[in-house]
Amino acid sequence: MDTMQPEYDAAIIGGGAAGLSAAQALGRSRRKVVVIDAGEPRNAPAEGVHNFLTRDGVPPLELLRLGRAELEPYGTEFRNGRALGFGRDDAGFTITLDGGREVSARRLILAAGIRDTLPEVEGLAEYWGKNALHCPYCHGWEVRDRDIAVLDSSFAVHQSLMFRQLSDRVTLFTTPDRVFDAAELERLEARGIEIVPREINAVRGDGTRLTHLLFRDGSEQAVDALVIMPRFGVELPGLAALGLQATAHPSGIGTFVATDELGKTAVPGLWVAGNLREPMAQVVMAAADGLRVGAQVNAELIEMEIDAAVSARRAEAATV
Ligand SMILES: Cc1cc2nc3c(=O)[nH]c(=O)nc-3n(C[C@H](O)[C@H](O)[C@H](O)COP(=O)(O)OP(=O)(O)OC[C@H]3O[C@@H](n4cnc5c(N)ncnc54)[C@H](O)[C@@H]3O)c2cc1C
Repeated sequence: MDTMQPEYDAAIIGGGAAGLSAAQALGRSRRKVVVIDAGEPRNAPAEGVHNFLTRDGVPPLELLRLGRAELEPYGTEFRNGRALGFGRDDAGFTITLDGGREVSARRLILAAGIRDTLPEVEGLAEYWGKNALHCPYCHGWEVRDRDIAVLDSSFAVHQSLMFRQLSDRVTLFTTPDRVFDAAELERLEARGIEIVPREINAVRGDGTRLTHLLFRDGSEQAVDALVIMPRFGVELPGLAALGLQATAHPSGIGTFVATDELGKTAVPGLWVAGNLREPMAQVVMAAADGLRVGAQVNAELIEMEIDAAVSARRAEAATV
């Protein structure tokens, strides 16, 4: 890459809402773009995407299929697979894909999202994103007026109070030794949220829906939904070679990649978009972030090209 110009103006790692939106902004700006995507968006276990105006309830993978189709006129290229490593020099970046192929680009946008790790409750994974939930905006409406159980965590009081807006049958299950501060207790009690000191050990369901909680004491209870809080984390390999690292998120429940407010990293030409830098962002926010980062990258390239043109013109004038 020392002597050759990179093949693409921009490479984007991740073809979720953030990555595809960045690709759209760049593609419409006549940039040569490649999107490398492993095809496993964070919300893949969910039946539908909510709070995305005009697309309410669309299956997550269908949303991304529609996104890819919209990029066709702009010549965006796709590589289905995983980026495994990165290199960097004065001309730009190289990306090593699974299978050993390499691509090179002048700019690199990391939009690879984050990975959720579920609490250790037997049987939970089967119902994650269905009626084992974490986000009232994503799935709260679907469980309105139902029996909603909340699994204790550092976010459980907040989640209980949020889901109480959707149902007056919210129960917070804790370990028997759980201690609440007086203010938390007052708020939960004032909203009629029952606190039950029984530790959830496992869940059971009918293969489609979680239907029962199983407790450590051997008892069980029927529920309509279980609210949990996963830990989230950065899973993208090769960050260190780019001079980046995963940072503890201020919420205390995971890691992310810190950038400036626009998504720019301290590494020249390297940008981050979507959940990877803002783990709480919903789909439409991740899409907006991708659009903004794509536009910033285009602006950066424009400035670079103006500088090159001005230098060339001056050099030419100097020789006359
Ligand atoms: C269960 C669940 C349900 C949700 N429901 C909703 C909802 O209803 N509405 C809503 O607005 N939000 C919802 N969210 C949040 C939503 O998932 C995120 O806002 C959104 O996925 C963020 O988009 P993104 O593009 O940043 O990341 P992602 O959508 O996660 O996309 C990242 C992409 O990068 C790919 N990738 C990762 N590593 C690599 C690699 N090394 N090489 C190549 N590709 C890679 C992944 O496979 C994936 O395709 C939900 C989240 C969860 C967990």
